[in-house]
Amino acid sequence: MKNSSATESSEPKPATTRQRRAASRLADPRNRAGRSGGLWTTMAGPFHRSIHIRFQYVFGAAIFGLVFMALIAVISSRTLLKTYEGSVQEMSHELSAIEHLQTSLRQANQLVFLYAFEGDQSALGRFDAIAEEVHTQLHLLSQADERFPLVSKSISVPASQGFTTGWHEAETAVRDVFQRTPGTVEIISAVARVEALIEPIHDKFAEFRNLSLLEMQTHLNEAQSAGVQAILTIFGGIFAGLVLLIVLGIVVGRSVLQPIAELQLAAGKLGRKDFSHRVNLENTRDELGQLGRAFNVAATALQRLYRELERRSTHDGLTDVLNRAGFDERLAAECESAVEFDLPLALLLVDVDFFKQVNDTHGHQVGDRVLQIVAGLLGETIRPDDVVARYGGEEFAIILPETDEHSAMAIAQRLRSSVENASIKQADGEDIRVTVSIGCVSHQEQGMSPEDFIKSADEALYEAKQTGRNRVVSEGDRPEPDYANWHTDAA
Ligand code: GH3
Ligand code: MG
Ligand code: MG
Repeated sequence: MKNSSATESSEPKPATTRQRRAASRLADPRNRAGRSGGLWTTMAGPFHRSIHIRFQYVFGAAIFGLVFMALIAVISSRTLLKTYEGSVQEMSHELSAIEHLQTSLRQANQLVFLYAFEGDQSALGRFDAIAEEVHTQLHLLSQADERFPLVSKSISVPASQGFTTGWHEAETAVRDVFQRTPGTVEIISAVARVEALIEPIHDKFAEFRNLSLLEMQTHLNEAQSAGVQAILTIFGGIFAGLVLLIVLGIVVGRSVLQPIAELQLAAGKLGRKDFSHRVNLENTRDELGQLGRAFNVAATALQRLYRELERRSTHDGLTDVLNRAGFDERLAAECESAVEFDLPLALLLVDVDFFKQVNDTHGHQVGDRVLQIVAGLLGETIRPDDVVARYGGEEFAIILPETDEHSAMAIAQRLRSSVENASIKQADGEDIRVTVSIGCVSHQEQGMSPEDFIKSADEALYEAKQTGRNRVVSEGDRPEPDYANWHTDAA
């Protein structure tokens, strides 16, 4: 325990907030894995982060599987064809026995001639060797026979069986020649019999060989065309699979990735306070479509709330004209613009006279209504570009852009008289009448700061109150302050 705490204390502690955050990021095992995970993490990272990439991985794997399967199929079909070709080669090897037999038969015939007409005594011994060879070759042929049922059928008896019987007769006839004296008359007829027996066998061998070769060739051609067909089928399958995958990719892309991109875009806009954007998934009936519609409902509600919030932050709840904050912002902007374009700007401060009495006599609720009506009257009387604001309590401010003192005074008088002439009806039938005093200030030349503007208007308003109320006093009308009795006046 002591040791570990000693180790801990020996490590420098992160001092700043940023250092502490970095230390906690490093301590998080997920982040450690992300830094040292190697190839797997490099590949799995995007997989976890993007549905798009997940789809690409899945389609990539499907295409890889398809190509792999095709490769296996091509290799197996090639192997199969090779095996078939091998067995055909083996068969042709066995057929070479027939060629041997044909040679042996020709040699036997020659030996018979050598003995019969030249008296060659070695011919018998050499014939024995040939007879032995013929037996061996006929045995080989009997094995080949099973492989060529068609050939056997075309020769009408099982091939090897026919050859064996024929050969037995021919051998007997040959041996009969060797038992006769060479050069005699009777040996000629014996030789003729040998020839008559050997000739058809030779012909049959030739026929058998030709047919067998033909059949082998046919088999080989069939196998080759079957192989080509198999490969064509495989590639056709791959092509169909690829087309299917691409179509599936497009369908899935359209139905999943596109809506997700829509939602992502909309969420991003919402994050940037763009509440006007809506997800366009009207024709999508699936879960993503439902999500999109729910998103739109939420965005509409948020948009409404945000507008309300914005309005409340700049407008007065009772009279619905600009509040003090809204007014300050607007006045600053108008002052700047008046200076920039060298235009006059006027400000009126309007105060309801003896409003306390209204409250005291009729109650606060009536007072509130009076304020609403006065605000409404002011709003109706000014020009579209002019701005009414509730400056505080029962005091209103009116910004008159591009207005010189003369026009501002005219507007102020109109406002004053419209309030004076308005009768505010009560529920009990009684009329309430109120008047307003207005301080007016207009400035051009080098402009005026908003604070000085308000101060001047306030002073003019003060003057209007002091000189009897229900009147308009402009900055220019105000008498110079009586500096000598300043303290007495203020008191
Ligand atoms: P003066 O002619 O000198 O302006 O007299 P006044 O009575 O109008 O001025 P004073 O400052 O004495 O009183 C203003 C009153 O306005 C006091 C306050 O209760 C009332 N008032 C301010 N805000 C509201 C409001 O939102 N609703 C109501 N009903 N009354 C308010
Ligand atoms: Mg007042
Ligand atoms: Mg007041």
